[in-house]
Amino acid sequence: MKIITDERCAGYSRFSHPERPLRILATLELLRHQTELTIEWTEPGRVSDAQILRAHSVEHLARLNEPEDFDTDTPFYENIAGYARASAAAALTALSAARKGESVFSLMRPPGHHATRDRAMGFCYLNNVAIAALEAAATGAKRVAVFDFDVHHGNGTEAILLNRPGTAFFSIHLFPCYPGTGSENVGNNCFNYPVAPYDPRETYRATLAQALNDLKKFQPDLVAVSAGFDAYVRDPLVQGVLEAEDFHWLGQSLSALGVPLFSLLEGGYSCDLPELILIYLKGVAGK
Ligand SMILES: [Zn+2]
Repeated sequence: MKIITDERCAGYSRFSHPERPLRILATLELLRHQTELTIEWTEPGRVSDAQILRAHSVEHLARLNEPEDFDTDTPFYENIAGYARASAAAALTALSAARKGESVFSLMRPPGHHATRDRAMGFCYLNNVAIAALEAAATGAKRVAVFDFDVHHGNGTEAILLNRPGTAFFSIHLFPCYPGTGSENVGNNCFNYPVAPYDPRETYRATLAQALNDLKKFQPDLVAVSAGFDAYVRDPLVQGVLEAEDFHWLGQSLSALGVPLFSLLEGGYSCDLPELILIYLKGVAGK
């Protein structure tokens, strides 16, 4: 298992913001000391402006350097553009590893799936998964699927990939919930699987299975995963229902697709995040 990470990604924080760097450091600690998976550690490579600009506007990229909060969820931090670029670069490094047939996970902050073409929101500044999916499509992949199991709708990824030939987006999330989108399918390639708050775990699992089944029918030659762990029952942000073993099953099921696959960390705000990531990775690795 290859993990793309850089401890410096945990270098920004704001008091009382749910985005806490400690969870990442705790995940690194757990992964370094566990013995079930053999891990190869890799640092993010680089991302060019041209690669970012497939997904974002020139104005948005410039805006990341202006020292002003984007919204109440999404503060400006010193060098946030640098952090966001490193996270996007890690997604590209993960894509390269997946293409070599490696199992790979990008353990970076900030997340990306809420960032739209011209807006930072929901703790997200650059849309890592969309940047990687568009890079894949521009460099030979014919059918790229993005599978987003974060509990929140990946509105940014949807907006960026909407009707883009050779791509498809599958998002399973609570609705109604932040960011308020994702109640129905959009365009010819964005498929949404809303689950109602307080629906039982069985319903959530069945909805995930349905989405996976539809993804299979798309016959992707590459799968990018927005791996959010905030649908977990003990996550403090929303009314999630999934148990740790559900993330293991997700890893197994995605790996069983038998196509190049890479996963990027999105949300996940419980203290159990390190264990959830490990169990997901064990699923991906077939353990
Ligand atoms: Zn989320």
